This record gives sequence, structure tokens and C-alpha cells, in this order.
Amino acid sequence: MPIRVSSKLESLLIPNTRVVVFTGAGISAESGIPTFRGQGGLWKDFRIEEFATVEAFERNPAKVWEWYRWRRDIAANAQPNAGHLAVAEFERFFEEFVLVTQNIDGLHDRAGNRKILKLHGDIWEDRCQQCGRTSLREPNQVRGLQPRCECGGWFRPGVVWFGERLPQGVFEAAEVRSRQCELFLAVGTSAEVYPAAFLPAIARQHGAHIVEVNIEASAIASLCDESLLGSSSQVLPALLKRLKQA
Ligand code: NAD
Repeated sequence: MPIRVSSKLESLLIPNTRVVVFTGAGISAESGIPTFRGQGGLWKDFRIEEFATVEAFERNPAKVWEWYRWRRDIAANAQPNAGHLAVAEFERFFEEFVLVTQNIDGLHDRAGNRKILKLHGDIWEDRCQQCGRTSLREPNQVRGLQPRCECGGWFRPGVVWFGERLPQGVFEAAEVRSRQCELFLAVGTSAEVYPAAFLPAIARQHGAHIVEVNIEASAIASLCDESLLGSSSQVLPALLKRLKQA
């Protein structure tokens, strides 16, 4: 897919540019994982309050676990797409790179990224409500209906629910990197979930060049320096081809 990039962006596609890639559910859409908003978005079929809040879990943990097990199954059967693979290549190319993701599906890890700040946790993690112990599950690992920790407490999914704080230190680290970066690439996010959605504005205030990759203009379109409209599985590999070795 041919893409048109500005001369400013072109000049930033070199190894020593400080880069933040910020991803949302859209990058995984073509791997078959439903987004929250937009076409086919999960919130059209499910009410947030019934599945993704502490209150919902306290009211009916089995129901919430059932929903997360369903979402784990979808993630387990999905494969990283060309967009994820391009982001993994970016990590290898740029010397100062960090991936800040709102996604919980694990596809960035599976694509090969290691420098990841997960703002909203990880769907593969179980976290004990009592002692806070976490354990990572393998895709498709079968568990009891309501998994229990050694300490006797109940495990919950290790994700951030609506109204909850982000994992300690993770947003702060993302904020620092957003302030320091020269290129901030926002990919497949509606930029409607806060505080994550503050990051593009923070990067902008500190002088970064902001580029959006999305199938349609998102809430942050007006603060972006340029928008590369199209699917991330096509736009990111096209951008990869434009990287210039030093
Ligand atoms: P969102 O659902 O609010 O928005 C998705 C965005 O992706 C939209 O702007 C849409 O236009 C865009 N998009 C859809 N298909 C695309 C494609 N092929 N290429 C490029 N862009 C595309 O997603 P969000 O902003 O990440 O919302 C935040 C919340 O959704 C996060 O808290 C995240 O944890 C959660 N979430 C994660 C997953 C996942 O891990 N895959 C899935 C659903 C929701």
C-alpha cells in the first residue's frame, strides 16, 4: 500500500530518533479481536457495568470470568498481524523505542516486542484479590470456574477495569517517554480512554511529531501533525519500508 508521508516524518525515520508507539484495540482488529468502539465494537453487545468493573466482579465473579475466558479464547486463537510485526521491527530499528499499549491481548509480545508498557494490564495474568500475587496463564490453559490462590483468596483477571487505577509506575513511565520522544505514533486507538489518551497531548506539548494511524480520524486527529488513514496492517508495513539506515 503506497503511503504519503511528510518530509518531517521522512526525516524522523532514522535509528536515533526517540520513538513512542502507542497502540489500541484497532491494531488487533484484523487478527480477529473485537475492538471496544467502532464497527463490531464489544460495547455494542455488552454493557460495561456488567463485565468490566470491580462492582461487577464482586456481584458475580463467575459471570465476569466467563466473559474473560471467552476473550482469552479469542486471543489464544488469534495471530499477530502485519501491523504487530511491523511494530516489532520498529523496536529493533530505533535505538530509543518504547511501545505503550492499551491492549491486553498479548499479541505484541507474541510478535516480538519486549520494550512494552502495558497500561491496562494483561488478559493472561491472574491476580489474587487478597495477597496481590500474580501468575501468568498460557493460552488455553484450563482453569476452574473461579480460580483460587494458594493464600485462599480469589483470583481476578489482571486487567484494569473502568474506574480503577493503572498499574503503579506504568503510566508515569509512559508519560516520561512521551515527554522525551521526537516521534509519537498513535495506532488504532479511539483515544477516548483516560488517562491513556493524555499521552498524545503530552507528547505534542513537548514538541514531538504526532502521527495517527487509523481507519478513520479519531478524537485526537486535531492534535496530530499528520494522519495516515488506513488499516494498521497495511500502513505500518508501508512505513517500515521507509525506514532509513544511518
Ligand atoms: P477502541 O475500541 O476504543 O477504538 C479502536 C480504534 O481502532 C478506533 O478508533 C477504530 O477506528 C480503530 N481501528 C479499527 N480497526 C482498525 C484497523 N484495522 N487499523 C487501524 N485502526 C483501526 O480501542 P482503544 O482506543 O484501545 O480503547 C481502549 C480500550 O479498549 C483499552 O482499555 C483496551 O484495553 C481495550 N480493548 C483491548 C483489546 C485488545 O487487547 N485487543 C480489545 C478491545 C478493547
